[in-house]
Amino acid sequence: MKERFRRFMQGRYGLDQLYVGMLVLYFILLFFSRWFMPELMTGLMTVVILLAVFRMFSKNIVVRQKENAVYLRVINRIKHTVKKLVQKIKDLPTKRYRTCPNCGVTLRLPRKRGRHKATCPKCQASFEVKIRF
Ligand SMILES: [Zn+2]
Repeated sequence: MKERFRRFMQGRYGLDQLYVGMLVLYFILLFFSRWFMPELMTGLMTVVILLAVFRMFSKNIVVRQKENAVYLRVINRIKHTVKKLVQKIKDLPTKRYRTCPNCGVTLRLPRKRGRHKATCPKCQASFEVKIRF
């Protein structure tokens, strides 16, 4: 039986990060379907699970790998944004963030009230920053 399954899966795509992401999405939809538009959620869940199974047994490996790469790029961008947001919240008592007017890079400055002169480490431009609180 195990050998038959192994032979059946030969040349097929199998599992990847997008598959796991689709399962997570499935359970998120399942969770919200109890309170929010259950018919629509059930329909979406069916589409998600069918797509996940289709991808797993697909023999078009190149296309499945491209889909997974796009998924990973999007997920990594979201992770990066969330990480920066968490860092900004953690820094709230001691740091302030300002954008360099010359090159647009974000500077992490010590929280000192008043007007100060800041120098951008990237483009060396000096500019005035005002920190109110
Ligand atoms: Zn700059």
